[in-house]
Amino acid sequence: MRIGLYPGTFDPITLGHTEIIRRACALVDRLVIGIAINRDKGPLFPLEERVAMVEEECAGIAESTGTEIRVHPFENLLIHCAADVGASIIIRGLRAVSDFEYEYQMVGMNRAMNDEIETVFLMADAHYQAIASRLVKEIARLGGDISGFVSPRIETALSERLLPAGGAAARVAGG
Ligand code: ADP
Repeated sequence: MRIGLYPGTFDPITLGHTEIIRRACALVDRLVIGIAINRDKGPLFPLEERVAMVEEECAGIAESTGTEIRVHPFENLLIHCAADVGASIIIRGLRAVSDFEYEYQMVGMNRAMNDEIETVFLMADAHYQAIASRLVKEIARLGGDISGFVSPRIETALSERLLPAGGAAARVAGG
């Protein structure tokens, strides 16, 4: 059985991520989505919510591709997480040239630690290539339309999470 690990922060999962997940399913029998706990990065959504959102977004993909999808939160080294879940490949998405430098270094370092795990890079469809969770959050915070970047479910989750402050401010402004 070929197992792949697709790691990330998924804060929150975007249509760019789901595109990569869908494509990765064609390469493996089981795809483990590694959700980095990333306390230092100060994620907007707590781990439990990021896990629930990824599980919900992936249910349909697992059904349509026939690939088993599991969600696995992790806080240790990526290469150790890959060994923990029995993955022989790590899947990463590439958006722009700017992603390359960091990913190139990561592959080098990971290979030095474990040469048996291969990293595979996938690119999303052109339509989804530019999507980044960080920018989606920024746009949502400023009241922009994010419907082209995330699913309706994530759009609602974002507005609920960002609304308390905005809603209170609007209520004060409105008297
Ligand atoms: P990280 O903190 O590891 O960058 P992210 O959740 O932002 O975590 O991204 C996880 C992975 O998904 C990374 O490999 C990232 O390059 C990839 N990715 C995210 N958005 C896209 C996209 N729109 N197109 C292709 N790959 C993407």
